[in-house]
Amino acid sequence: MFDRCRREITYLRLSVTDLCSLRCRYCMPAEGVKKRDHTDICSVEELVEIARQAAACGITKVRLTGGEPLARHGILEICRGISALEGIKELCLTTNGLALPELAGPLRAAGVDRLNVSLDTLRPERYAWMTRRGCLENVLEGLRAAADAGFAGLKLNAVLIKGFNDDEIPDFVDLTRRYPIEVRFIELMPIGAGSELEYLPSDAVLDACPELLPASEGGVARRYRLPEGRGLVGLIAPMSHRFCAACDRIRVTADGMLKPCLHSRREIPLRGLSGEALRKAIAEGIAAKPEGHQMDMAGRSFAARDMYQIGG
Ligand code: SAM
Ligand code: SF4
Repeated sequence: MFDRCRREITYLRLSVTDLCSLRCRYCMPAEGVKKRDHTDICSVEELVEIARQAAACGITKVRLTGGEPLARHGILEICRGISALEGIKELCLTTNGLALPELAGPLRAAGVDRLNVSLDTLRPERYAWMTRRGCLENVLEGLRAAADAGFAGLKLNAVLIKGFNDDEIPDFVDLTRRYPIEVRFIELMPIGAGSELEYLPSDAVLDACPELLPASEGGVARRYRLPEGRGLVGLIAPMSHRFCAACDRIRVTADGMLKPCLHSRREIPLRGLSGEALRKAIAEGIAAKPEGHQMDMAGRSFAARDMYQIGG
């Protein structure tokens, strides 16, 4: 389906929980979030029905996110249900990677095609500080488990933070020399706790690694590669190179609210709807996509929720 700006909307980012095993400083409050009653969150059946009706509206790719999707009870059932839907060509998942040692194989068997693993630093003490409780070795173990389970084209998401990981840019880029992965540098967005850390424009990656060569386009990412590299470097720059004109996505929160744009206040309730009524509500959400966000000019997001409540 096309929106009113003639963008074809084919991608649904579906949040399955707002709980998380980590407390990343730019995302979660230090004390975590209060566990909601399970009836406040979409059930497995509701999530699969949302994906089914989204597919009927032209969605072909679904990404499960959160909070931490692997912390959601019933995650494998959700994956099995969505990957089996007619029209869904690709099921992806964004994770902090901690549960991959146990879950990488079962996720693959449940129909997940691709994984993005979030990792903002390669230094154990920095990782522990940023996540307020995580252990870097567990993520590295998770990455190995994902590769062993047959996940190809792994993507590593690193949020660029001035004074925290800018000196690690060459180390991250160097990973693409050795491994066939895509390292994606993401600009920090001023949403929730994200406003408390310091933004660094993604062009800093090109300054730090002038040997990078332009490579193929990758959706909203500008892509580069090292001359002898096996992998790719992606720059995702919602602040410095606004990509709204190429936006092809809608989002649904774990409590069943459709967000036409990550940074807008507008939300369309989907819970309680099914079949034709649900399809109509999703079509309404696609039609309601704004032309773009004003976050770059306003210096803040207009979303009424934090990232872990939306699904980054
Ligand atoms: N827990 C999973 C993870 O960390 O991959 C999935 C949810 S997390 C909200 C999804 C992505 O959003 C992560 O890559 C995270 O780094 C990113 N993120 C969270 N807050 C952000 C912010 N303020 N600006 C930019 N990216 C952010
Ligand atoms: Fe959890 Fe992901 Fe947010 Fe970190 S970025 S606190 S792992 S939801």
